[in-house]
Amino acid sequence: MTVTRFAPSPTGYMHIGNLRTALYSYLISKHDDGKFILRIEDTDRERLVEGATDIIKSTLAITGLGYDEGPDVGGDHGPYVQSERKPIYMEYAKKLVDAGHAYYCFCTKERLEELHNEDALGGYDRHCRNLSKEEIEKNLNAGVPYVIRQKMPLDGVTTYYDSVFGEISMNNSELQDQILMKADGYPTYNFAHVIDDYLMGVTHVVRGSEYLTSTPKYVLLYDAFGWERPNYVHLPLLMGKNADGTVSKLSKRHGAVSFQDLIDDGYLPEAIVNYIALLGWCPKNSESEFFTLDELKAVFTIDGVSKSPAVFDFEKLLWFNGEYIHKLDDEEFKMLSARFIKTEIPANINRNKMLELLKTRISKFTELDEKMEFFITLPEYDTELFYNKKNKIADLEVVKTVLEAAKETLCSVNSFDNDSLFAALMPLSEKLGLKTGAIMWCIRIAVSGMAATPGGATEIMEVIGKEESLARIDKALAKL
Ligand code: GLU
Repeated sequence: MTVTRFAPSPTGYMHIGNLRTALYSYLISKHDDGKFILRIEDTDRERLVEGATDIIKSTLAITGLGYDEGPDVGGDHGPYVQSERKPIYMEYAKKLVDAGHAYYCFCTKERLEELHNEDALGGYDRHCRNLSKEEIEKNLNAGVPYVIRQKMPLDGVTTYYDSVFGEISMNNSELQDQILMKADGYPTYNFAHVIDDYLMGVTHVVRGSEYLTSTPKYVLLYDAFGWERPNYVHLPLLMGKNADGTVSKLSKRHGAVSFQDLIDDGYLPEAIVNYIALLGWCPKNSESEFFTLDELKAVFTIDGVSKSPAVFDFEKLLWFNGEYIHKLDDEEFKMLSARFIKTEIPANINRNKMLELLKTRISKFTELDEKMEFFITLPEYDTELFYNKKNKIADLEVVKTVLEAAKETLCSVNSFDNDSLFAALMPLSEKLGLKTGAIMWCIRIAVSGMAATPGGATEIMEVIGKEESLARIDKALAKL
């Protein structure tokens, strides 16, 4: 069975790159009806941020990436928070020491700092690698603080296969005797994740490509324990576009890069998920770019993952988001809009009707306030706006005639809904010898003060109501 995991460190907000890792990891297991695990990697106690684990969980819940095992839901391989697994790591570290693949290091902080200053590479000089048994015993008995380091082979090459990047090799002479257990008794990420991935039965390690070159050290741990190595799936880098046209690692300066910021900016979770699915993966047999999570599960395979860096394009995301918003049903749209509307909406405004008109005219929810402004307050406009080639309006006297006739008609319309308004205004066409389009044009400019609007004249009047419509027509007549 395919088992994958998402193993974030709770160090702050959920970066969109992390969410992509979670998504790909989820999809790889779910494509095979496998298992997806959430594991919280909190052994770097200095980088912990309060509330970060909740952000991780809520992001996964909102995006629909449910996990089969993890904190809260449990499972056979718990606990799923590394700080709660402390004794496990020590046990395995000692096994490695006994087998000769790791060693106690008693070097003081001062000594290491000195070493660091002397050696620009910051490498450890393996000072404790060959301490005698007696020396080790003596230090341990005396309670000298220690770390446990991995004993790297001094020569040869370590090679592993990555499903995306292919064969990766590293000279062992380049590998540091990295720390597995720290002086505070916590494991390093480097050690803990290997133990956990093994114990939790993870078959595919899916993560960012920044781990590509450290993975030789991890496969050596698998080898040292005599465990079968997992499959590695390193994901391409995520880049952002800079103002000067170059690209660099996606970060805050490129725009909102946390999931929550995007949500607050008016993006839909479904649109974000759909868009980031395509950031580094391409469907094999599909022309479409639109995928629900279920559809992604069906089509997502590792061979569609690319190794070239993916560039996050905010314009493209905005377009996706617009498409998703336009497809929402009206009720859902109204419900989702509520938290974004900051404008006080006056009593004359037909809120539902207004939102229906705006739904297909926005690309993200935060555009709503600006787009609804003209319904609430008539903008200043110039009578020039009435001229229109297509409707052959070249004379403001004609506009005046139309508006006067429209005013008279509208005064006697009681039900101000789109259909009634249209039916009432239609006869003006014959009466004035003008095309319906020309009549509606004049009225629309008068009631909106804008050349382009969401909805036509009658729809706008339905939104603003009888009194306001007539007041706006009067204003136009006064201008003309
Ligand atoms: N805790 C690591 C991170 O957040 C996980 C890397 C991995 O998936 O192995 O980067």
